[in-house]
Amino acid sequence: MGKKVLISGGAGFIGSHMVDRLLRRNDLETLVVVDNFWTGLATNLAHIRDPRLNLVTSNIEDFATGDKFDEIIHLASPASPPWYMREPIRTIRANLVGALNLVEMLVPGGRMSFASTSEVYGDPLVTPQPESYRGFVDCTGPRSSYDESKRCTEALLFECQRTRGIEIRVVRLFNVYGPRTRPDDGRAVSNFLSQALTHGELTLYGEGDQTRSWGYVDDIVDALERFFWLDSGITYGGPLNVGNDREISVAEVANYIVSLVPGARIKMCPPIPQDPTNRRPDLTICRQVLPGWQANITYEEGVKRTLDWFRDQIQHGAETDAP
Ligand code: UDP
Repeated sequence: MGKKVLISGGAGFIGSHMVDRLLRRNDLETLVVVDNFWTGLATNLAHIRDPRLNLVTSNIEDFATGDKFDEIIHLASPASPPWYMREPIRTIRANLVGALNLVEMLVPGGRMSFASTSEVYGDPLVTPQPESYRGFVDCTGPRSSYDESKRCTEALLFECQRTRGIEIRVVRLFNVYGPRTRPDDGRAVSNFLSQALTHGELTLYGEGDQTRSWGYVDDIVDALERFFWLDSGITYGGPLNVGNDREISVAEVANYIVSLVPGARIKMCPPIPQDPTNRRPDLTICRQVLPGWQANITYEEGVKRTLDWFRDQIQHGAETDAP
C-alpha cells in the first residue's frame, strides 16, 4: 500500500533532494512538504510536476492538519552557523517545537525520522566519533541553539520510542554540501564557491587547520532514503552517523577551490569563537545498518559538481550575497 509521508523543510537543501528521491518511488501515495522558506527556496521544487506532492507554506511548529502520516521526516532547521546564530530562538523552535508538533501527527505505529547533526559531538575529544561518544558541547555557547535543539530533539524522539512505541530513525549528518545550497548560506564549501565566483576573496576563518568530513549530498540522501524508508527491513532506529569519513582541513578546501577558479584568492580572517577543531564520523554502525552503502563521490569531484552548479546559478541571475 502507498505511504502517506510528510517532510518538514522539504524545500531546503537536503529536503528538496529527499523529495526528488521519494517521488521516484511507486510505494509513495502522498507527500506533504511543509516549509516556511526561511532557508528553503521555492526554486528547489519548481521542476516537480507530480500530483502526489502537496506543498504547504507554514512554520513547522504552527502547522496543523487533520491528516495522519505513516512517516514524518523532520528536516526543518537552518544548518549554517551564521543563519542559526542570527535567529537562535527560531532555530530551537523549528527543531524542538516542530518535533513536538509533528509526533502527534503519526498514525499508530508510524515512524518519525530526524536529521540530527555531528554538532551533538561539539568540539570532540575523540576521533573518529562513534555514536556512543557523548560529545564535548557548551550548552550556553554560540552554537548552542543548534547543537542543543538537535540534542533535545533526539532525546524527545528516543523518549517517544520508549514511552509511546513510535518508530524512530535518527541520523547525525556530517558537513553535507552540494547543489541547492543557498549562495548566501555561509557554510564553508558553498561560501568559498560563491565568493570565488563573485568577488574572488575566500574568507578563511583562523588558520584553516580545523578539519571536517565533507559529504556530497547525493551520497548522503542515498543513505537517508535507505535508512528512513518504511519498508527497509532495518530495525535499528539510531543514532546513526552518516557522512564521508575522509577528514580534510578547511584550508585544503579553500586552496582546492582557489586552484579551480582563476582569480580566486584566500583572505585570512579572525577565528570564529568555539569553532570545532575536528570532526570525523566513525561509520562502523553505518556499514552494518546500511550494507553496501558508502560515500562514492570524492570531495574533489563533489566540489567540482557544486562549482558547476553555482556557476550556472550565477549565470542565470540567482541572487548572491556572498559575505
Ligand atoms: N569556514 C571558513 N570560512 C567560511 C565558512 C566557514 O573558514 O567562509 C570554516 C568554519 O570556521 C569551520 C569550517 O569552515 O571551521 C566549517 O564551517 P561550516 O560553517 O561549513 O560548518 P560547521 O562549522 O557547522 O561544521
